[in-house]
Amino acid sequence: MMIQEEIQELKVARKALILAHNYQPGEIQDVADIVGDSLELAVKAAEADEPVLVVCGVRFMAETAKLLSPKKTVLIPAPDAGCPLSDFLTPEMIHDARQKYPGAAVVVYVNSSAEVKAAADITCTSANAAEVVRSLAAETILFGPDANLASFVQKQVPEKRIIPLPPEGHCYVHTAFTEDQIRDAKAKGWRIVCHPECRPPVQSASDLIASTGGMVQHACDCDEWYICTEREMGYRLKKLHPDRHFHVNPDAICKDMKKTTLEDLHRSLRDGIFEVEIPDEIAVPARKAVEAMITSRRREHDRA
Ligand code: SF4
Repeated sequence: MMIQEEIQELKVARKALILAHNYQPGEIQDVADIVGDSLELAVKAAEADEPVLVVCGVRFMAETAKLLSPKKTVLIPAPDAGCPLSDFLTPEMIHDARQKYPGAAVVVYVNSSAEVKAAADITCTSANAAEVVRSLAAETILFGPDANLASFVQKQVPEKRIIPLPPEGHCYVHTAFTEDQIRDAKAKGWRIVCHPECRPPVQSASDLIASTGGMVQHACDCDEWYICTEREMGYRLKKLHPDRHFHVNPDAICKDMKKTTLEDLHRSLRDGIFEVEIPDEIAVPARKAVEAMITSRRREHDRA
């Protein structure tokens, strides 16, 4: 029997749901029940009936799923898959910044550890960051760990002061995109979409700035795209829209996202490993920060 078939059998036997991030290798996306961005995965996982969630992605994604599904068993097949961007911000940095800027609100990107979320007031995604910041009463916002996303939000919400925490926080995959690459892609007549984790000059040179969810939403707007994000997003988009062309940078690879293999996933389902556990003293405030974002999103949708 092929490993993919064994995975499907184990999944049914364990009553598990397989979740894969958009940046996971194609063969993992192919066996997953749900493919999406980190929040989409966590929210859909919480709504699902399955008592076991297997998160194919990096650690903060599995933690977010656990925060929103505290009673479920959450497994991560590649426990050493981290996120160098999330490592830029620590709870101590947030505590220090709060002393320096009393009255400021702390917004952290979901790409952060559970400990960092626990120290924040509210979380955000790249899709709703501006909306979350606008919803807060505070005029000064401490925003981390991605300084490029902070800069994007500052442009969208000029009435507030956004302080990036730390000023050098970035994702090495997204900051590798250059203005030259954009120029070359434009010369070929392709439309450019970049993720807000790209540097501000790349954002300015692009036709559209969008989260991975936004990229899925706008995929049909034209025939030929240049996608400035992790290269596997091209696989996901092509699967959804086989009639469109999605050009990617083949070197835009997140090494941690590629740590999950079919063998890891098989072992995870077979042996029930590796279970994600978050101590209550971190889980309770971290969940509050994630739920604050979900409530703010619902309020916005109700208003729209
Ligand atoms: S692509 Fe960047 S932000 Fe996403 S998991 Fe990898 S290092 Fe972290």
